[in-house]
Amino acid sequence: MKVFLNPGHHPGVDPGAVNNEYGVQEASIVRDIGVLVARYLTYAGVEVETLQSDNLVGESPMYPEVCASANESGADLFVSIHCNSAGSAMANGTETLVFGLGGKAERAARAIQNQLVTSIDTTDRGIKERPDLIVLRHTEMPAVLVEIAFISNDSDVELLIHEQDTIARAIARGVTDYFCGEE
Ligand SMILES: [Zn+2]
Repeated sequence: MKVFLNPGHHPGVDPGAVNNEYGVQEASIVRDIGVLVARYLTYAGVEVETLQSDNLVGESPMYPEVCASANESGADLFVSIHCNSAGSAMANGTETLVFGLGGKAERAARAIQNQLVTSIDTTDRGIKERPDLIVLRHTEMPAVLVEIAFISNDSDVELLIHEQDTIARAIARGVTDYFCGEE
């Protein structure tokens, strides 16, 4: 089994959401978590290819295009990793996004979502349909986008900074749970 990991945004190019009070950027947090997820999946015998790039539809020719790279990779599952953000500092919790409900992507999303909310005890915001998202729409394999927690919320951002290993283990377990269920 092979997973294409896509930590969101692009350090130095596209920081994603930021929390200036804590001095952290989404792109760096998900890069670091992505390294750990790749390590735990590799330990579990899952092949991993990782690409963090802001090039979604060919708009940044200097960088690899995410969906095209994923589609060429032969991966069985695409996992994009992000932090959520909201204007209200009260918004918090974990959600996982899919192109549409009712298929393999939803099963993968539920497996990852369950592991995450159990491991880091965040609010369970559920699985949501987001057919507008390019990484979900233009990928040919089952694809999920994990919004681990809110970088804009004080207690969530503490998790994003201090519980990266726990988060990574949970995402990796969710992926292997999904693969076991599909066999
Ligand atoms: Zn993001």
